Amino acid sequence: MNTEETVTAAVSDLRLGSSFTLAHLLQAIQERRHRRLRVVELADLDTRDGICALWLVTDTEDFVLHARSDSALHRQQFVLHELAHMILGHTEGDDCTAGDVLLPNIPPHTRGRLLKRQDIDSETEIAAESLADRLAAGIRGSVFAESRYSEIFG
Ligand SMILES: [Zn+2]
Repeated sequence: MNTEETVTAAVSDLRLGSSFTLAHLLQAIQERRHRRLRVVELADLDTRDGICALWLVTDTEDFVLHARSDSALHRQQFVLHELAHMILGHTEGDDCTAGDVLLPNIPPHTRGRLLKRQDIDSETEIAAESLADRLAAGIRGSVFAESRYSEIFG
């Protein structure tokens, strides 16, 4: 499968339809992975080296850690990018303990697998970015649907 086909298959596999909310998407991923997923803002995340979000896999939970951003759209894109890696099953990464990454809401010494990728030319990055864009379009679709709904019925 090429990237386009992989991404299209992943979207239809989620069974969310053409428009959905971020909450629905998070729910669908939790159900697929049979584990809790938390999205945590990490004020200390250093974005100078290009890291805007990380996926931390612990024994029991998944965390998406994202940098603070004044733009809700940017923040959403960071998160969707990491969610895309989860959906596509990109699970290789470095072993670390949660304490290494200074996490406020995560018990220290939780063993985890920290997934961060800065090599944006790699195939997994291209696929994740492409899926993130598709997910963003689905969420925009639901925003439009909701505003149309309130126009008619509000
Ligand atoms: Zn990535």
